[in-house]
Amino acid sequence: MKRRFGISIDESIANTLEVLSHQTGVNRSKLIEEALKGYLEHHSHLLVPHTCKGILVARCPNRSLLAGVSEQYKEIIKAWLHSHLDGECMEAFFVEGDSAKIRDLYSSILKKGCSCRYVPAESLPQDRRSD
Ligand SMILES: [Zn+2]
Ligand SMILES: [Zn+2]
Repeated sequence: MKRRFGISIDESIANTLEVLSHQTGVNRSKLIEEALKGYLEHHSHLLVPHTCKGILVARCPNRSLLAGVSEQYKEIIKAWLHSHLDGECMEAFFVEGDSAKIRDLYSSILKKGCSCRYVPAESLPQDRRSD
């Protein structure tokens, strides 16, 4: 069964999707479904409650967007790297602890307008996967 819903995506992403769809002959819905499946699989670490460890990598357009975040989440942040590449802030948070807290840190980084990627340092036990 399929569910339909309207989403808004960046013009450039939509264009890339059109090109990929055209060149592969796979319709956009299928491509989005595949992309989403991969994303959700990767983010099951943030959905399934467990004790997790990994690295949150953030890229922020402006400096000090994440000021205060490290203090707020110091309970799970074991180490923190901060550097500048091409004028942008690059942050790496080495985290360990409750997956719900890691998820909260992840979402607060996104809400500040930064891009963020979570790289889990362990695999989720098979029986705890959400699918
Ligand atoms: Zn995990
Ligand atoms: Zn910076």
